[in-house]
Amino acid sequence: MKTVIEKVIEDQKICNQDKIDTAGKIIQEGGLVAFPTETVYGLGADALNPKASRKIYEAKGRPSDNPLIIHIADMKALDKIAVHISEKAVKLAEHFWPGPLTMIFEKSEAVPLETTGGLQTVAVRMPSHPAALALIQAAGGYIAAPSANTSGRPSPTLAEHVAEDMDGRIPMILDGGAVGIGIESTIVDFSEETPMILRPGYITPEMIEKIIGQIKIDPGIIKENCGIHPKAPGMKYRHYAPRAELVLVSGAQEKVKQKINDLAREAELSGKTAGVIGTDESCRYYRCGIVKSIGTRNDEDTIARNLYGILREFDQQNVDIIYSESFETSGIGQAIMNRLLKAAGQKMIEV
Ligand code: AMP
Ligand code: MG
Repeated sequence: MKTVIEKVIEDQKICNQDKIDTAGKIIQEGGLVAFPTETVYGLGADALNPKASRKIYEAKGRPSDNPLIIHIADMKALDKIAVHISEKAVKLAEHFWPGPLTMIFEKSEAVPLETTGGLQTVAVRMPSHPAALALIQAAGGYIAAPSANTSGRPSPTLAEHVAEDMDGRIPMILDGGAVGIGIESTIVDFSEETPMILRPGYITPEMIEKIIGQIKIDPGIIKENCGIHPKAPGMKYRHYAPRAELVLVSGAQEKVKQKINDLAREAELSGKTAGVIGTDESCRYYRCGIVKSIGTRNDEDTIARNLYGILREFDQQNVDIIYSESFETSGIGQAIMNRLLKAAGQKMIEV
């Protein structure tokens, strides 16, 4: 299959509605289209068509028990796919939709089990990206879309990343340039009594608690490998990972830099190509390996935005081992560390 890449955004506005309409038609006919959202690029199919959803699993090599998020473009669309929508959920939707928040509800009859990985619940998000909203409308209102990477690899934050993984597997990629946020949405489960965060993201627990009061955080994601299974099936897999081994180093800044310098030197002496992930503030202290800045500690949004791209860059440079600083901060730092630890298979050295 030939994959075409169509530019649809210029100056943050839609510049090519025709191509979005063509993409919508592909989805309505049961095909797949990759498209930009504000979090990461998604791989979309008609969420209400079981055969179309199945194609997503095939193209990504995604385990069939890992459910998809349904993307909608307006609040009215929610009633058809979800039942028992609580007042708290409506409040969160009012505050954070369109935006990087996914909510889980009991599913309606309209949603096929192929889309929900066999679960009786459904994950729903209304993205804010103009191309995503326009595509959802052109496709009939319901797009199931996980991140548009091969399962396990870092999520795509550029159309070029999607092409690396999906070229020849899907007919069309809509190119909206670099995404704004760079890590996946926060997932909040409303299918049980007390709402619970199943995946940390740009919208933090503090931001949610301000609107609806106390929420729980899935114990399975706070400390991995503790024997508690995370409730979001996708959170149990190694994920977001570069081909190279990734090791995080955490502790006081000075000690971390020293340790990474030592580790990168040792790796190079043993004949390996080492990569180092530092920040704008720390990069000049590193002496060995291919050194890259992931962003600035003064603005953690930059770190989220560059995270997956930097892992893919190291892959292209055939690095064998990557050492990264840690970012144990509140706010979006929780989501950044969650993704980095997963990408590292939980390997972290404390100094
Ligand atoms: P992705 O779109 O690639 O970010 O993956 C979607 C994430 O949402 C995965 O971690 C899924 O396990 C999770 N998810 C989707 N639907 C549900 C659901 N009904 N219950 C729990 N987790 C879900
Ligand atoms: Mg994903």
